[in-house]
Amino acid sequence: MVTQELTDLVEKGVMLPLMEEFYTIQGEGYHKGTAAYFIRIGGCDVGCHWCDVKESWDAETHPPTAIEKIVDNAAKYSNTIVITGGEPLTWDMGPLTTGLKEKNLNTHIETSGAYPLTGTWDWICLSPKKNKLPEPEIYDVANELKVIVYNKHDFVFAEEQAAKVNENCILYLQPEWSVRDKMIPLIVDYVMQNPKWIVSLQTHKYLNIP
Ligand code: SF4
Repeated sequence: MVTQELTDLVEKGVMLPLMEEFYTIQGEGYHKGTAAYFIRIGGCDVGCHWCDVKESWDAETHPPTAIEKIVDNAAKYSNTIVITGGEPLTWDMGPLTTGLKEKNLNTHIETSGAYPLTGTWDWICLSPKKNKLPEPEIYDVANELKVIVYNKHDFVFAEEQAAKVNENCILYLQPEWSVRDKMIPLIVDYVMQNPKWIVSLQTHKYLNIP
């Protein structure tokens, strides 16, 4: 297939730049500790300087993959599929989630919300980033808000974001991994003083699993 045809199919979400997929334990947020199949889609221009998956940024380094193939593979492993990236909403998530739903799978997304929400989701984890703020509509439907704390100003950012989400949205503060020793004590103090927040840790990294 010529490059332009592939590009068009990726633009339509019929093929997606697949970076990796793996069956593991969800380490973060509300579903931490539960088994899930992760699909990591390439492509992100949000540009967080502390990003731990920078190799995901350039979509062209990840092979355009037919969604039927992605769905058939995922269905072999788990009832719960977590779509992550990169920033999955770079692409139209409609065709992928339609395929997953046809197999009665639970669809979860990890997103910065930087692009319009597409797809059908059972769980939306919104992790907003300062450099490219979420599209407004996602605040109404996010199930959890996960703010990464890299420095003290992130507590201010977290409150700004919490003021925008719906009333059922669960609020998490999660230390950025490289500064966790410095930020965990601050987060613990903050949560004790502001108990609407919950501490989230990247437990998969402590467990040494993907
Ligand atoms: S939004 Fe996520 S994938 Fe994109 S740069 Fe930030 S942390 Fe990395």
